[in-house]
Amino acid sequence: MTIVIYDKHVIYDKETLKMTTLRNYKKITAFVIATIMLFCLMPAGAAYAGAADPDSLLTPGIYDAADEGINSLKARIAALEKIISLNVPNAEKIPILLYHHLVGDSEMTAAQRQNDMIISVEQFSAQMKFLSDNKFYAASLYELELYLNGDMILPERTVVITFDDGYRSNTRYAYPVLKKYGFQAAIFLITSTIGERGSGIEKAGWSDLQKCGDVFQYHSHSHNLHVQQRDGKSAFVTSGAPEITEDLLISKALLSTSYLAYPYGQTSRVSRRAMMDAGYRMGFTTVADYAVRKVNQIEIPRFTITPNIDIGAFEAICFGLAGVVVVEEEPVEPAM
Ligand SMILES: [Zn+2]
Repeated sequence: MTIVIYDKHVIYDKETLKMTTLRNYKKITAFVIATIMLFCLMPAGAAYAGAADPDSLLTPGIYDAADEGINSLKARIAALEKIISLNVPNAEKIPILLYHHLVGDSEMTAAQRQNDMIISVEQFSAQMKFLSDNKFYAASLYELELYLNGDMILPERTVVITFDDGYRSNTRYAYPVLKKYGFQAAIFLITSTIGERGSGIEKAGWSDLQKCGDVFQYHSHSHNLHVQQRDGKSAFVTSGAPEITEDLLISKALLSTSYLAYPYGQTSRVSRRAMMDAGYRMGFTTVADYAVRKVNQIEIPRFTITPNIDIGAFEAICFGLAGVVVVEEEPVEPAM
């Protein structure tokens, strides 16, 4: 079946990844017929399309924040017990770490070394080893939300590990390192670019993402608004509210998420409103600061981990000693 329906506004074509908005009666009729067909053809419990297909755009439950705790609950209880045994105080602030693309040190070109959004696999591994050696706990975004709402206590030495854009290097290089140390992490995906291989940096595909679902949870970095214009502004902040809401609804439906990282860290009053209209509850920026309980949950700061952050600076961030800096995400592609 080609047509997959995600919500009452949008029809999505699985093969071409093109979406059609329902704006007139004719289309609404098509929508109703397609809905009836879809539900008639789907077995019970798989109301959304393609549950058995490894490359399915939608795999109910896998990416669901409400269900995500079930996947690795035992590992996380063990990790939390380890921290509790240290008798550390409760966290008053949590560093959220932000990574983008990873490249092996020996393969890195001169241009890649100049790009703040690329760090070496070796540097990343050393940072994760530091976290593990010092018994840090890597919380999920769902746990972070519970913490921010006052519904969960997290110990000092909690971090949240995030990646933006969805590069294949995340599943290829970061995944085994995170798995080795029992860490979980979030990837904010630009859903229209999943599996893209063109001339730019390869993006992780659906089957990659699914295979790595025991470590990563997937959230939105917009569906197709991660486009930077000449003035440096992203389509996410220059588009109109209806367009932003529509875009975010697609990505929300594809990933079953309520969490969004703003493209290039840029946000505006209109885009924040649109994001809330689309049902998102947490929004992440690139302002380098800690997440605290009183934080505005649609402007949660994160520390971009650039290559010039040496292990000492990294430790300072994780131990709660860093000052506030604003780092705007740069395009990774042009420097390649
Ligand atoms: Zn990005």
